[in-house]
Amino acid sequence: MSANLGSEARALRVAVVGSGPSGFYATEALCKSELNVKVDIFDRLPAPFGLVRYGVAPDHSKIKNVTKVYDKTAGRENVEFFLNVTVGSDVSVEELGQYYDVILFTCGAETDRKLGIPGEDIEGSHTATEFVAWYNGRPEYKDRVFDLSGEVAVVIGQGNVAMDVCRILAKTVDELKSTDIAQHALDALSKSNIKEIHMIGRRGPAQAAFTPVEIREFGELEQCDPVVDPSDMNISDVSQAELADPKNSAKAKNFEILKGFAERPAGTKGRKFICHFHKSPKELQGSNRIEKVVLERNELSGEPGRQKARGTGELEELKCDVFFRSVGYRGVPIEGVPFREDWGVFENEAGRITDQGKVVPGMYCAGWIKRGPSGVIGTNKPDAEETVQHILADAPQLEGCEFPDSDVLLKKLTERGVKVVRFADWKKIDAAEVENGLKIGKPREKFVDVKDMLAVIERSE
Ligand code: NAP
Repeated sequence: MSANLGSEARALRVAVVGSGPSGFYATEALCKSELNVKVDIFDRLPAPFGLVRYGVAPDHSKIKNVTKVYDKTAGRENVEFFLNVTVGSDVSVEELGQYYDVILFTCGAETDRKLGIPGEDIEGSHTATEFVAWYNGRPEYKDRVFDLSGEVAVVIGQGNVAMDVCRILAKTVDELKSTDIAQHALDALSKSNIKEIHMIGRRGPAQAAFTPVEIREFGELEQCDPVVDPSDMNISDVSQAELADPKNSAKAKNFEILKGFAERPAGTKGRKFICHFHKSPKELQGSNRIEKVVLERNELSGEPGRQKARGTGELEELKCDVFFRSVGYRGVPIEGVPFREDWGVFENEAGRITDQGKVVPGMYCAGWIKRGPSGVIGTNKPDAEETVQHILADAPQLEGCEFPDSDVLLKKLTERGVKVVRFADWKKIDAAEVENGLKIGKPREKFVDVKDMLAVIERSE
């Protein structure tokens, strides 16, 4: 039975689960469509913007300006917010289906991939996801402890997240204190004793996943010198062919920047950012906590663009006081949604959620939970639009939900003791954060406790 969803008489009701970039881009695309839509955006935290607030590094503040675009979407009259509501526990996916014709998951990838090596969980071994969430003040991570009393940090992976982790470890408090970094992180970093930051790549300088802007920054830090072994810059013909391909222009730029680092005379700054290539971690060792990483030297094989790292059996040891793996994010399952364990995404075909290949009517996904953790924030716009196209095409065939009324759900949640936070409430939290930040020369001081965020709302009521 179709209820003429999207008509003047009956809006297509969409629950967007996750208020990060994909959630906002999908909402905007839905609102711009010809259909009459009503979108409710859910997020487990009282603060929206997902990765922009809790993933983007504090010293990359310009990227965060994108929230002004999201504010416009939030201001649309057919968009409402259910912040501070966890889908999967405060409300199940099944129950959500009673109130919405479409559930669109844009919940990102919040955990990380493992290395699968002995000693991976030894004390002092951390994930980049935890560290990033901690310095960005994500409430669930505020109490994490990173022991920075030793001199050597080792970071595995050469993507932009690894870059962020290395840079935050490399920067001085002066370089960070006027950003929106969480105060607890700034305090801990101010006591950091780290002198060497080793970034380990399993492939070569022609394959590194970071982007030129990010690597270039390491040549301009106040108290940290980049170190690249000149012998690593002698690359094979296959790697040279990769760099000559115009579609690899960013990698060619990376290579030039790294070459510049390799040619620099030894620096005299207090910290060193040391790039390693063609090495994979084999084991983390230590008696009570991490003391060293065993690395295996790799060689590359394969055609240009498809070269893979293969261990040579040649091992070396690297002293290590604190360890981070940064080898990619993974989505986490939500009960009631088919999940692909192998990829860490919801099972889907171009955004339509599927169960063993069969489309699940009314369920969709966009962003990292759809395609995996790749691309920059803007990549999520076309990705979300693709999913929205499918929603619009499918709408005439969808069955209408049982209770097309958000207020009924709101009442139920309130009865359960869930304090639903609306966008106007978030604006109060936002204003308080900005005010608190101003006092100490920061763009904002984030609340790192949900209780404190809710207290701001209560005080205003
Ligand atoms: P990523 O770009 O996919 O990088 C993952 C890194 O981990 C690669 O160097 C990869 O090496 C390495 N790796 C994977 N498995 C490994 C293993 N088993 N052993 C050793 N190394 C391994 O992922 P990310 O850094 O998490 O970033 C996610 C996305 O967010 C990316 O698209 C990134 O550009 C984006 N991002 C952008 C910014 C920015 O624009 N400033 C900031 C942060 C993140 P291989 O290349 O050999 O696979």
